[in-house]
Amino acid sequence: MSRPSDAAPSATTARAASRYDTVRLSHGSGGKLTLELIEELFVATFSNEPLKALTDAAILANPGGRIAFATDSHTVKPAFFPGGDIGRLAVAGTVNDLAVMGATPMYMSAAFLLEEGYDMSELERVVRSMKATADEAGVAIVAGDTKVLERGHGDGVFINTTGVGFLADDVLMGVDQVRPGDKVLVNGTLGDHGIAVMSRREGLDLAIELESDVAPLNGLIEAVRRVAPNVRFMRDVTRGGLAAVANEVVHRQAYGLRVFDVAVPVHELVEQYSEMLGIDPFLAANEGKVLLIVAPEEAEAALGAMKAHPFGREAAIIGDIVKKPEGVALVETAYGSRRVLEMPIEEQLPRIC
Ligand code: MG
Repeated sequence: MSRPSDAAPSATTARAASRYDTVRLSHGSGGKLTLELIEELFVATFSNEPLKALTDAAILANPGGRIAFATDSHTVKPAFFPGGDIGRLAVAGTVNDLAVMGATPMYMSAAFLLEEGYDMSELERVVRSMKATADEAGVAIVAGDTKVLERGHGDGVFINTTGVGFLADDVLMGVDQVRPGDKVLVNGTLGDHGIAVMSRREGLDLAIELESDVAPLNGLIEAVRRVAPNVRFMRDVTRGGLAAVANEVVHRQAYGLRVFDVAVPVHELVEQYSEMLGIDPFLAANEGKVLLIVAPEEAEAALGAMKAHPFGREAAIIGDIVKKPEGVALVETAYGSRRVLEMPIEEQLPRIC
C-alpha cells in the first residue's frame, strides 16, 4: 500500500497512525496525532485489556508473592541487526532481568523516544517485533508513553521498558548463597550479540553472517529451575560479558570463580571477528545468555534442561567456585596457566543495547 506524503495526510487511510510516512512532532504532543498513534499502532498491536482501557495507569491482576521490578533503556545502533532489532531487545532485556531473579515476568511498559522524521513503517516493524517477543515470553505490554524529539536530537528510536514479575516468597538466590564447589554454567556461545552488532556497524563484509543471540530466557530458566530447584545465583550476561558477571559474583565474597578457557562456548565466527575487531569475546555483550551457579549435585540436571531448550543447545559447565583466591575471577587454560579475568574498565562497544 502506498502512503500519502507527509504534506498530504489522508482522512481515508484505515490506519490513522500511517497517515504519515514519518514521525512528526505532533505524534508526541499528547494531542490528536498522539492518540491516533497509540490507538492505531500500540494498542492495536500490543492488544490487551489493560492497555485498551487507555487509563492513566494500567490496573493489573496480582497473582501473589513478591514483586520483581526492572527497567532498561535501549539505544542500540543500528536498530536492526543480524538476528534481531531494538524491539526484540527491549522486551527480552527486561524479561531476562526479571527471570534471573527467579520471577515470572508478567507485565511491561514501553516508552518510545522517537526522532522527528523517523520512518513510520520502521516503527511499525519495531512494534510488531516487540509484540512477537512479548508473546514468546508470555508478557503483556500494558502501558506506554511516546515522546518525539526534534530532528537531529535523537537517533530514530530509543525504547525504555519497565517490567513486573512475581516470585514466590521462598525463592532464595544471590551471591551470598554461592559456595565453593558450586558449578558455573552458561546456556551457550558467548559474545554473539556484541560481535554481530559491531560487524554490522563496521560494515564488515562477512561471508557468513553472525547473528545476535537476543532472546527472552524465562522459559529456559523455568525449565532449569524445575530440575535444579536450588540454583544459587543467576544473572543475564549482557554488557561487559562474562568478565563483568564473573567479577560481580566474586566482588567482596570469600570465594573465587574459576573459568576453564576451553570449556567456554564461543562461536567460531566470534573468535575470528573479535580478533579482527580487537575485542575479547569474554568481554563482549550477549542478549540471550544467562550465567548460573548451581550446587554440584544439580549441575548435570541443569545442563540437561538447558541443552533440551532451543536457547540452550550449546550450554556448558564452564567453571566452578573455588575457596581461593577470594574475590577474584580467574581463567584457567588447558595447560594449567591462569590469568585474572579483569572487570571491564570501559565499554568496548558503545550503544550495543
Ligand atoms: Mg541484567
